[in-house]
Amino acid sequence: MKSKTLPKYIFVTGGVSSSLGKGIISASLAKLLQSRGLNVTIQKFDPYINIDPGTLNPYEHGECYVTEDGTETDLDLGHYERFLNIRTSESNNTTTGQIYQTVINKERKGDFLGKTVQVIPHITNEIKRRIKLIEKVKSYDVIITELGGTVGDIESYPFIEAVRQFRWEVGMGNSVVIHLTLLPYLTAAGELKTKPTQHSVKKLMESGINADIIVCRTEHSLNEELRKKIALFCNVEIESVIESIDASTIYEVPVLMQNEKLDDVVLKKLNLNNIQLSKLDNWNAFVKKIKNPSNEVSIGLIGKYVELQDSYKSILESFVHAGAANDVKVNVIPIHSEQINTKSVNEIFKNLNGILVAPGFGERGVEGKIESIRIAREKNIPFLGICLGMQMAVIEFSRNILGLNKANSTEMDINCEHPVISMMESQKNIKEKGGTMRLGSWRCAIENNSLAHKIYSTNEISERHRHRYELNFDFINQLSEKGMIFSGKNPDTGLVEIIELPDHPWFFGVQFHPEYQSTVEEPHPVFVSFVKAALNNKSN
Ligand code: GLN
Repeated sequence: MKSKTLPKYIFVTGGVSSSLGKGIISASLAKLLQSRGLNVTIQKFDPYINIDPGTLNPYEHGECYVTEDGTETDLDLGHYERFLNIRTSESNNTTTGQIYQTVINKERKGDFLGKTVQVIPHITNEIKRRIKLIEKVKSYDVIITELGGTVGDIESYPFIEAVRQFRWEVGMGNSVVIHLTLLPYLTAAGELKTKPTQHSVKKLMESGINADIIVCRTEHSLNEELRKKIALFCNVEIESVIESIDASTIYEVPVLMQNEKLDDVVLKKLNLNNIQLSKLDNWNAFVKKIKNPSNEVSIGLIGKYVELQDSYKSILESFVHAGAANDVKVNVIPIHSEQINTKSVNEIFKNLNGILVAPGFGERGVEGKIESIRIAREKNIPFLGICLGMQMAVIEFSRNILGLNKANSTEMDINCEHPVISMMESQKNIKEKGGTMRLGSWRCAIENNSLAHKIYSTNEISERHRHRYELNFDFINQLSEKGMIFSGKNPDTGLVEIIELPDHPWFFGVQFHPEYQSTVEEPHPVFVSFVKAALNNKSN
């Protein structure tokens, strides 16, 4: 399907409150359009001034998601990849920081020829340029742009103004604005309230944008009368009032949006006619599996940001995919690593069928992680260590099997006696923090006759990274003499990517982040195998 008017543009804005799930709505709509044969991508514009979320504490902004090309991005890009089974890149995430940086660099070069550099037109022009930048990567039928933040925030204004201009420039019928809003339910009145939605739609209008479609997040179903009321006061047709009721899993949202005909309304407004009907058979089968598992397992997630769900988003979603592949529900039990010590560990681990030690930075809670790994190793509990989790497994083994009591990572103790984990040579002269870790996809050669080979069924893989420290080559011989094997290595540098303990039923440490590559269509083999091992552990 090709025509001169492509691509078409969809903008998703948010009103009333943050955390309504713009990312999920955008990804669900994209899924529906993709299933109708359209070539779709999504990008996220974030109004904060950080260049990227790489320097943000997970408590601030949830997980930092890493793309194949090594960009540290917003976690919504993870949803886009998981839903659409596509790969995103640097061009899918833009921040206010990047926009100002580009404009200021141009100003320093003298590109503005003596002009006063202003929010309008210079910042808005840069935003508009970036909306289209993604078309340089590939040609698309539809580009969805999700605007972070909430309408009315001061920092969102330049984006809203840029969208207003952009819509005018691409002409009527070539763009759609979807406003995601909240209908609060007042228990005392027994009613869903529309006033906050009316106000946020008006706020958008003040900036010259009429929302074309209102998606209403709600705990209760919308009746006809309420739909009419929202349509009347928000200036849209009644079919453009879409209910987005709370779902038991985010993966049900595309199905709910299909029931509400969101895709039909969008296509009509974009003048995209005769588009084939949606085929969501595989997706529906997946949702059915998640909702009716035959069995369940419990896996402890040991980390230091466990209070916040979003901190380990990709790991949690990988377990949903791997659970469906094994026909089990994976109960992920978040455990704060600071709570774990020699006394508490046995009680805490009593009902766990597997242990995952999470990625992380800094010293806080590492001793609890090491203790968790000791128990997993000694009690034959399936263990997956990701990045820092793998490094801690090397430290645990060095201390308790090699007898190197002072083994540590130089990240935790720069002068430690046995630095089994140390900073990579390539990192030693780097002073700046932002975007300077070993990032993105790197190749990894897999040893034959290893668990890694059994999991991946191939001799070379590519996985995504985000780290500064690595297993210290000086200790490889000692570690392997005592039975640790290094089943995955970077073929060019020899950096250790995977460790295993063959005497254990399932002990696997990875320097990379498999969670970034798991999608609904392609659950990650490491997680699939780990969940299977947890299931075996449960039945033993
Ligand atoms: N802090 C460790 C490093 O930089 C691990 C990083 C991670 O877990 N993502 O190497």
